[in-house]
Amino acid sequence: MKEKLTHPIFKIVSDCAEERSVPAFVIGGWVRDILLNRPCKDIDFVCLGSGIELAERVAKKLGEDVHVTVYKNFGTANIKYEDLEIEFVGARKESYDRGSRKPVVEDGTLEDDQNRRDFTINAMAISLSPKNYGELIDPFNGIKDLEAKIIRTPLDPDITYSDDPLRMMRAIRFASQLNFQIEKRSFDAIAKNKERIKIVSKERIADELNKIILSPKPSVGFKLLFDSKLLHIIFPQFVLLQGVDYVGSQGHKDNFYHTLEVLDNISLNTDNLWLRWAAVLHDIAKPQTKRFEQGHGWTFHGHEDKGSRMVPKIFAELKLPQNEKMKYVQKLVLLHLRPIVLAKNEVSDSAVRRLLFEAGDDIDDLMMLCDADITSKNPEKVKRYIRNFEIVRVKLKEIEEKDKIRNWQPPITGEIVMKTFGIPPSKKVGIIKDTVREAILDGLIPNEYEKAYEYMLEKGKELGFTAVSNMP
Ligand code: ATP
Repeated sequence: MKEKLTHPIFKIVSDCAEERSVPAFVIGGWVRDILLNRPCKDIDFVCLGSGIELAERVAKKLGEDVHVTVYKNFGTANIKYEDLEIEFVGARKESYDRGSRKPVVEDGTLEDDQNRRDFTINAMAISLSPKNYGELIDPFNGIKDLEAKIIRTPLDPDITYSDDPLRMMRAIRFASQLNFQIEKRSFDAIAKNKERIKIVSKERIADELNKIILSPKPSVGFKLLFDSKLLHIIFPQFVLLQGVDYVGSQGHKDNFYHTLEVLDNISLNTDNLWLRWAAVLHDIAKPQTKRFEQGHGWTFHGHEDKGSRMVPKIFAELKLPQNEKMKYVQKLVLLHLRPIVLAKNEVSDSAVRRLLFEAGDDIDDLMMLCDADITSKNPEKVKRYIRNFEIVRVKLKEIEEKDKIRNWQPPITGEIVMKTFGIPPSKKVGIIKDTVREAILDGLIPNEYEKAYEYMLEKGKELGFTAVSNMP
């Protein structure tokens, strides 16, 4: 493996370890990723004895300004160097208590340290000692599992997952990220230990869920979460999408698999986590809005509106951010049918203008979501939908060029209304302001200040106000 250790950091760590007469190794994710030819900026070093002392020596050698962050409680130390995130730890042995995923730790050998690792592919080490520099130390044949694309625990999976149930999420995350299979015995142990996930913090679960959503084909991870029934515990609203109801021979589509298809589709075109979350949640209220209407079949009226209103609670439960990221997801869920409606009907300028106003700068993301939402198996229908969206896109472009509505601020503000009519803040100020804005969006008056001002005077008059100042 010598030829893989091209970065100067490996020689430096090797020299420092030699000066202290402690064997040192590079271990874990970096070794796995280098063998998979995946770029990896996180490097974990393990040595016998104190990882912190080794880190301090290495930092000194790297330069005066290189800083070591020490986590005394964990016995680890971290160095940020160039674009690398380098971690040092002393080899350790762990034993677990049932109530917590935090182990009792004691000093150990390299073998102990490899035994505590979650998967065979994550337990490989490369020696940095001069006598066998570059030798791969792979007690569980992780290299074979890498080749066969298998996730397997070094020790009994039942104990491994029960000890630290976060490993269940990690197993599924790696399967999704790397497109690996989870060994059957391991998968059965995940299903058996699923309830143990409850001792893991919501933040850690969300971290892994986000990594699954960001993986190349997220449906792989979601199906494993579903099949192991972990999903039922961590994200029950999503499970409700699964299944098909029938009235006579009329069934609707299975919204769980449909959503996963939409998510996979959008993942081909974007790495934006929140746009992918919008795909996850776009139909989330379908179970709650499902009706069978005679003569119509299955309908889900208002699912976009209800779904959008469900987002804050779901985000709060999953400990996802409650900020503009959430609002963005809400907006896309709310608007996800609008381009489809536009495509079905004769597209009027005012409908397009209104969509541009509501979507603002997120219009392109919304169109991407709508494209991904086409999952029909009927090639004729797919062709028609794509053609219709093309028409909507052309229209969006035309109207945007003409009216510049995307980040538009209506010309008549509440301030102007109050000044013009000499009135204090009130509901009527809002009514006048909104009426002017709506008139522009509907195309009743052009998007011009003077025209809007005149229209405001007219509307104010209707409400019994007279202007007390001239047009500013
Ligand atoms: P990624 O960087 O994609 O998250 P990684 O495997 O490098 O993948 P880290 O969380 O940085 O993940 O962990 C580094 C190494 O520490 C892993 O490769 C594994 O050997 C070990 N490890 C991490 N978490 C656990 C855990 N919960 N149980 C056992 N070993 C773990």
